[in-house]
Amino acid sequence: MVNKANVANTGGGANVEGAGIGVIGGSGFYSFLDDVTEIQVDTPYGPPSDSLFLGEVAGRRVAFLPRHGRGHHLPPHRINYRANLWALRSVGVRQVLAPCAVGGLRPEYGPGTLLVPDQLVDRTKSRVNTYFDGLPLPDGTVPNVVHVSLADPYCPAGRAVALKAARGRDWEPVDGGTLVVIEGPRFSTRAESLWHQAQGWSVVGMTGHPEAALARELELCYTSLTLVTDLDAGAETGEGVSHDEVLRVFAANVDRLRGVLFDAVAGLPGEDERGCLCVSALGGMDPGFALP
Ligand SMILES: [Zn+2]
Repeated sequence: MVNKANVANTGGGANVEGAGIGVIGGSGFYSFLDDVTEIQVDTPYGPPSDSLFLGEVAGRRVAFLPRHGRGHHLPPHRINYRANLWALRSVGVRQVLAPCAVGGLRPEYGPGTLLVPDQLVDRTKSRVNTYFDGLPLPDGTVPNVVHVSLADPYCPAGRAVALKAARGRDWEPVDGGTLVVIEGPRFSTRAESLWHQAQGWSVVGMTGHPEAALARELELCYTSLTLVTDLDAGAETGEGVSHDEVLRVFAANVDRLRGVLFDAVAGLPGEDERGCLCVSALGGMDPGFALP
């Protein structure tokens, strides 16, 4: 059941309790929760992909955000990543779990593989990938030039929790690997895919960047859980990747992925107990605007 409340760019708004944990994923992850409140949040960067859907999992408040919008109408390159992460933070989110569908770049990473990456390569081309672009916000404040470290793009605590959650569901995950993010929406050519493999990269997706980088800029913990839905063009010998195949495999795995996500939610540290470096990614530098 989904209740509706309208909240404009706030920390939760009247009568709506916020959430400390964000899950960027579609309706398959929250639609069966008992009591879900839908709130619309605006941001200085425009609206996020969709409403936030706030509910409770294992006693923790969670905000779900459909990355592509309900009905999956937004292609990866048109997602307003800045608005999405800003909106989550504005309702109290400090830790983000980010499941996504990927292609496997090695024959052993076939459909149904769950890989929790520890590295990221950005091969996108046309996305706004920072909050620190020097352009004024609607309220007139101008962001400072800030360079955050993304040497280790994922939260170590979140990764450990995700891996443990998967193992607890008898789904042995691949611990670590490199997610290369392409612009899309087309899939890779065979030459591109073979090149990605030759670099030693593990999986290929279209949404992991700039999501991870923007999360770091907002001092959010960010953990990616990648579900392999197909072998990428260079790792198989057939016709290449099809969209139908991706959707079919994702649907077949959404129940157990939801189980892993919910166990991970339960295992994440409390919002005030984060001991990782994500918490101080700005290192005390002044971003020039107030974080939401
Ligand atoms: Zn962290």
